[in-house]
Amino acid sequence: MARGNETRALSSIDLALWDIKAKLAGLPLYRLLGGFRKKIPVYIAGGYYAPDKGLKELQHEMAGYVGLGAKAVKMKIGAVPIKDDIARVKAVREAIGPDIRLLLDANCAYRAYEAIQFAKRAEEFDPFWFEEAVQPDDYDGFGKIAAQTTIPLATGENEYTKHGFRDLINTKAIAILNPDARYMGGITEFMKVAAMAQAHGLDIAPHGDQQAHLHLLAAIPNALMLEYYPPKVMASAEGVYLYTPTLDSDGTVTVSEQPGVGLEPRPEALEPFRIG
Ligand SMILES: [Mg+2]
Repeated sequence: MARGNETRALSSIDLALWDIKAKLAGLPLYRLLGGFRKKIPVYIAGGYYAPDKGLKELQHEMAGYVGLGAKAVKMKIGAVPIKDDIARVKAVREAIGPDIRLLLDANCAYRAYEAIQFAKRAEEFDPFWFEEAVQPDDYDGFGKIAAQTTIPLATGENEYTKHGFRDLINTKAIAILNPDARYMGGITEFMKVAAMAQAHGLDIAPHGDQQAHLHLLAAIPNALMLEYYPPKVMASAEGVYLYTPTLDSDGTVTVSEQPGVGLEPRPEALEPFRIG
């Protein structure tokens, strides 16, 4: 199975070829791919660990994302003892209220038995998903966790190609797939994975890059949410690209009608990287 840097390089070329195709057709990518919707729900990812970030600061941060219009927010877990993470999750749930989706991302920090311990204690705080509970290739571990918790499992940011996602889907443990078109094989491969997921009743919530993934989510019926960084959260999200989506008060962003995949850079943003 193709993995790693070769597939990442192929993905970049694939994205560029789709960009050329869409521009030649005079269409935004999502329309070229069929066009399913214009507005996409987003989640704002934050809640990282920091030395000076206590429970109060974490609550303030996560409630701030809700204040920006987000109906879903994501926080990190897995870097401190389980009881301390449970206190963090409890604090965030109290801060954002019962109606905001709370996503938890462990970045592969747990063994399966630890993930089960965590999930059992976290369930009362109604997490929307439990992301990368164990190592990307630990399909057996995902199966064990899924058998022990009602929290939907999400993973896929470190999965590659339709063959990898086929095997991941075959575990029957994952509810939400997080493919990243920049890594896993480009737009061509992403669309195949999305169709395969649809046939298995699974939703797609891509990892990272709101620019190209916005078009892909607007093109597929099983789109769940876009990982989104508003300018207030990540200044570079606004500075690099010519057209950036803005968050509406209903927690969605609207896909651009500009031809192409949505990765048009701002020329002045590239200037510092010019060689010669
Ligand atoms: Mg993640």
